[in-house]
Amino acid sequence: MRLSQVAAACLSLAFTLTCAAQNAAPAAGAEQFKPTPGYDPSAMDTSVNPCENFYQYACGNFAKLHPIPSDMPEFDQFVNLYEFNTQVLHGLVEKAADVHAASGTNEQKIGDYYSSCMDTDAIDKRGLAPIQPELQRIAALESKQDLAVLVAHLNRLSVGVFLDYGSQQDFKDATKEIAYVDQSGLGLPEKDYYFRTDAKSVEIRKDYVAHLANVLKLLGDAPDAAQAKAQKIMDLETALAKASQGVVERRDPDKIYHMMTLTSFAATAPILDATNYVQLMGSPAVSELNVIAPSFFPALNQAIADTHLETLKDYMRVHLADSFSMRLPEAFDQEHFDFYGRKLLGTPQEQARWKRCVQATDSALGEALGKLYVADYFTPDMKASTLREVHDIEAAMGKDIDQIDWMSPETKVKAKEKLAAVADKIGYPDKWRDYSKLEIKPNDALGNSMRSREFEVAYQLDKIGKPVNREEWQMTPPTVNAYYDPSMNDINFPAGILQPAFYDKDASDATNYGHIGAVVGHELTHGFDAQGAKFDAKGNLHDWWTPADQKNFEQRTDCIANEYSQFTAVDDVKVNGKLTLGENTADNGGMRLAYIALMSRLAQGKPEATTAEQKLEAKFTPEQQFFLGYAQNYCSNARPQFLRMIAQVDPHSPDPLRVRGVVVNMPEFAHAFGCKPGQPMAPVKSCRVW
Ligand SMILES: [Zn+2]
Repeated sequence: MRLSQVAAACLSLAFTLTCAAQNAAPAAGAEQFKPTPGYDPSAMDTSVNPCENFYQYACGNFAKLHPIPSDMPEFDQFVNLYEFNTQVLHGLVEKAADVHAASGTNEQKIGDYYSSCMDTDAIDKRGLAPIQPELQRIAALESKQDLAVLVAHLNRLSVGVFLDYGSQQDFKDATKEIAYVDQSGLGLPEKDYYFRTDAKSVEIRKDYVAHLANVLKLLGDAPDAAQAKAQKIMDLETALAKASQGVVERRDPDKIYHMMTLTSFAATAPILDATNYVQLMGSPAVSELNVIAPSFFPALNQAIADTHLETLKDYMRVHLADSFSMRLPEAFDQEHFDFYGRKLLGTPQEQARWKRCVQATDSALGEALGKLYVADYFTPDMKASTLREVHDIEAAMGKDIDQIDWMSPETKVKAKEKLAAVADKIGYPDKWRDYSKLEIKPNDALGNSMRSREFEVAYQLDKIGKPVNREEWQMTPPTVNAYYDPSMNDINFPAGILQPAFYDKDASDATNYGHIGAVVGHELTHGFDAQGAKFDAKGNLHDWWTPADQKNFEQRTDCIANEYSQFTAVDDVKVNGKLTLGENTADNGGMRLAYIALMSRLAQGKPEATTAEQKLEAKFTPEQQFFLGYAQNYCSNARPQFLRMIAQVDPHSPDPLRVRGVVVNMPEFAHAFGCKPGQPMAPVKSCRVW
């Protein structure tokens, strides 16, 4: 929840579109996915001059060796490890399903959640019956005056109609958990999808309206009526999109923080009956809340007033059905994939059901399943070695702050205070979530999904007004990702990413610093990127910079934003330098920190190459191994539709540009590979923040 809403910054968004959802799982097919080594010579194309195009040099053969699986929009190291972890989790859920553990145990819940999700015969046989009570509830709405009751009910099921209500740490007082209310309700990825005029965007909108009509037909509407209704739903969503904040605006913490009393918020959208809505959500009483996107709500009020009651009902029916499509008869599932997978991302084939059910189990019972995962796949020595590397990188940041010439001693003191306060979270939480109040039944796919979502919403809302739980994680242990949370001022590395190729115990230190060292440095730098730098050591949105230092910092971040804006993501689509600024700053800063840390380690003496992999690596200098390790984090093969979409919504640059952008800004790279000034990877002008 928090992640979708902006605060935290993660390592990769990839194909799932949310930071949090990138977690994992296969087992029983035991297929092609296995962790790759940190150094993979077969992916390289050594006929390319590294100073001309380092990505091609490090990853030129990757796409040939790794065709994109037909059920994926892309393939890279993240996807590879994600697929591997999915296999591992598959083994665990199948085992739990076979055991038939005592009712109420975590094992029973994991087993029954997964088995019921897999039982498509039972799901098909029941047809629409399980969701009928929900459809009837919508059908029974007689007046807009009663809308709040219905919307709160759907929002409690995480059906994203009209708005989003939840909890967050107070940006200005990180000791407090407060309520927030936010824009929501769009079926397309973000607002600009409703307005871009190029041919591909127009086509996506046409496909989306057809999709809405198809869902209505599956719900029993006549074809002609469905098409007309779909267009009206599209008109409603377009009105909501028009008043929504855009992806760049939402990167700025100041633009998503507006404390208001509940009474004054309620007055901006009387039709929502906010006081009643908050109660119906099951929220603790609130007197004030963060209205993330204030200008959205008067427009929402107007859009609801302007829209026919029947269209509002159709809109809710469609989003309800789409949201639970995987637990409805197969035609719903296929229709959902046809638009969101095939049309939007260009993926030819849907992921196997078992993969999706494993992921759904991870998302419903992530810390119960994650506990089993770490028992098998994350040993205490892995935790210890990661922590050692994290401490090295933090020490490097201290040195970096001492060295930089553009920051005053005054601001440096504050920066170091913030650095010293960063909490390191490695692998998995010290205290696991309690699922005892979540009921999971055999043979009840839809009910299990609905109860899990309500359980999660209630869990999040229950935090409001209570002390902040600093032990909590926002990603499950098998997730192939990492994040920095500015309100917590912590860096978090789930066990799922602390695996080969990101961390490879057989590879050299140099390769590992390029891989996982860069990941650690990336997250740490988020504390000091354009968003993170606005938060202080305690996690409060509070300006700790002198005006002159602030100006120097902005000049430097502007340089990065302009530099990346010149890069082409795909076809005619350029990288959005402003959208990707924080991530690009983190990539650049992270590599510099990892480099400083590696140099300190090498100064203590170079270890002998002992493993077969280290002997292979030894034909490169440690500096070269370091840059190769980094580049090979981002070897990838992606569909053009996917690249187009991430260029529009993802705050991360496309994989090859995460390599190029970093090496062109590091003179250490030119030195390592003997590049001459003016060669493409060693431009005369470059940018540096950290
Ligand atoms: Zn990041």
